[in-house]
Amino acid sequence: MRDEMHSANGHVATEALDASVSLPPIVVETQGLKKTYGGKIAVPVLRGIDLQIRAGTFVAIVGQSGSGKSTLLHMLGALDMPTAGRVLINGVDLATLEEDELALLRSEEIGFIFQFHHLLDELTCLENALMPITIRHGTETEEQRARVIRLLQRVGLEPHLHKRPGEMSGGQSQRCALVRALANAPKIVLADEPTGNLDSRSGKEVFALMHEVNRASGVAFVMITHDDRLAQAADRIFLVENGVLQEVEKK
Ligand code: ADP
Ligand code: MG
Repeated sequence: MRDEMHSANGHVATEALDASVSLPPIVVETQGLKKTYGGKIAVPVLRGIDLQIRAGTFVAIVGQSGSGKSTLLHMLGALDMPTAGRVLINGVDLATLEEDELALLRSEEIGFIFQFHHLLDELTCLENALMPITIRHGTETEEQRARVIRLLQRVGLEPHLHKRPGEMSGGQSQRCALVRALANAPKIVLADEPTGNLDSRSGKEVFALMHEVNRASGVAFVMITHDDRLAQAADRIFLVENGVLQEVEKK
């Protein structure tokens, strides 16, 4: 967009352009984000990351193992705190929040999916998917329950609502974990190699469902992946390397 600012009054022109395009709001932002793991020998992992993710964007994060992808995702989700710099969720600087406010923000605004589904063995698929609502409200309303069941239907789990994780396949369990991440209708889903533990067919299915949810509901996704084909299907791709983040052109 900066390239458009050639005229003398380029500044005005750019503002007009922004207004006419009316970009979706920024839901996740980092400013000069740094993370160093301590101990006797300091290990700088992230050396200054500036990132802006707008509502509804599907972002893929790629990079070598050990480059700091999970570290970054954990800080976006307020699961860990930066050594320096800021993380803003919907414009709110996480450093300004008390622990209970952070917990509320995590449960209201952010859904998490990890490589392993982390479903509770003794609960059914439906009970697992309802868990974030149960934790937040004590119990779920009929409406919330109906909404979660609809989501489970949408990811093809209707026949498995009352099965326990031990009776479901890896792909089914991960689809259940996807619905659990969406249970509180978050604006952002953070996914750390969500397909990394699945065979390629189930991985593609889970990814396709994440994409479908993203397109249908405008939830922003930030997904770490090793799979270049999945990354290519995202709206934007970022590479973590040598502690910095750079956007990668899509092929
Ligand atoms: P990635 O997800 O890209 O594989 P990570 O973010 O998990 O990488 O880790 C980045 C680097 O930080 C690695 O060298 C890892 O060993 C180190 N690291 C991660 N978590 C911790 C921690 N809690 N304490 C110390 N070092 C850590
Ligand atoms: Mg990782």
